[in-house]
Amino acid sequence: MILDMFSLAGKVAVVTGSDTGLGQGISKAFVEAGAKVLGVSRSPSTKTQELLGEENFKYITADLSSLDAVSDIIGTAVKEFGKLDILVNNAGIIKREDSIDFSVENWDLVMNVNCRTLFFLSQAAAKQFIRQGSGGKIISIASMLSYQGGIRVPSYTASKSAVKGITMTMSNEWAKYGINVNAIAPGYMATNNTQALREDADRSAAILERIPAGRWGTPDDLMGAAVFLASSASDYVNGYTLAVDGGWLGR
Ligand code: NAD
Repeated sequence: MILDMFSLAGKVAVVTGSDTGLGQGISKAFVEAGAKVLGVSRSPSTKTQELLGEENFKYITADLSSLDAVSDIIGTAVKEFGKLDILVNNAGIIKREDSIDFSVENWDLVMNVNCRTLFFLSQAAAKQFIRQGSGGKIISIASMLSYQGGIRVPSYTASKSAVKGITMTMSNEWAKYGINVNAIAPGYMATNNTQALREDADRSAAILERIPAGRWGTPDDLMGAAVFLASSASDYVNGYTLAVDGGWLGR
């Protein structure tokens, strides 16, 4: 039956950036759909665990600006839950500074978390999927700045444009193993990531005016797309970046 195809019963997921915002919403969606989730964040995902229950959601803390934790993340998921079926690369940061003065530090930091670690964690997950022989799902969180230039965020735009590109590369190489690699490009969502924008009255009004849906998105708005791309309902969706943006890109 069609709704059964959206079930994540018996599935095991890793979600990075699970302590707050969109990663917390995706973790909630997966648990509601039947999965067990290992969360990975810079700070402990205690609130998410309170929300979802210790039997459904476990977490580790790790600094994803380096690759040190990559093998431990996959190993912990397998140790705690016996296997891995789904990886969500959601952890991400943004640094705002005029491009003319943009620092090397802010370039490297954003590229490392949003792009470098995302790729090597995806590679480690794909190796685990191939060892298990039962396929898998990789979902990365892209952005409107996978399509557009943005303002004062050159490293973020570079990283998110790269996410859209390497989603296709990984998909091209790993589809033959039954691994679906896709991305979600959220529009303007009310989380910590956009706090500075929402506090700037002029920028906030300009953004809202351009969103056909007439409101900022919320973490709950990503739940449907995340479950779709994590489930067998999307088994023939490969290398695609799905915008969940209240219509922003259509303007
Ligand atoms: P957020 O700032 O609330 O969450 C960021 C998450 O990334 C946190 O869970 C944090 O722990 C994790 N993180 C950051 N640096 C880390 C590091 N070095 N090591 C480990 N974890 C780290 O923002 P959010 O809006 O929930 O962002 C989630 C993702 O969505 C990001 O990739 C962001 O770029 C993307 N995104 C957000 C929006 C938006 O409007 N909010 C739009 C498009 C894309």
